[in-house]
Amino acid sequence: MSSTTGADEVEHYLRAVVEREPQVGECLACFVDRMVAEFGCDSSLLWATRFRDLRSPTATALEKRFRAQAVRCDCLVVQKAYTPVREVLVRDLHTDELERPERMPPCAGVRRTNTRPCAHWRRSPMAGYPD
Ligand SMILES: [Zn+2]
Ligand SMILES: [Zn+2]
Repeated sequence: MSSTTGADEVEHYLRAVVEREPQVGECLACFVDRMVAEFGCDSSLLWATRFRDLRSPTATALEKRFRAQAVRCDCLVVQKAYTPVREVLVRDLHTDELERPERMPPCAGVRRTNTRPCAHWRRSPMAGYPD
């Protein structure tokens, strides 16, 4: 990574942010996962709050809960706040361990104003995470 980060790229990123919307029925976790895969994480809860603003503007407890879990940015939302359920994991042929797939399957769907993840994710327990 080097000199490619410039004003153009920032502008491209910002434009992407205002253009991107969750798909119909797409859940918070799948949306954030998809956006982080595509655009990376800017070390904020950018995509999570965008989802919240668009889908469920009153769900202000969401960020509070993330902060309480030390989830400070989007990539942690889908690594820490939520983790893929066993059913979507794939077996690594070398280590024989279950790992998250490179791309999550399409969202299993949630009701429109819901900030809960779909059936592909589970909410991680708060305990056991070193801050
Ligand atoms: Zn991040
Ligand atoms: Zn989903």
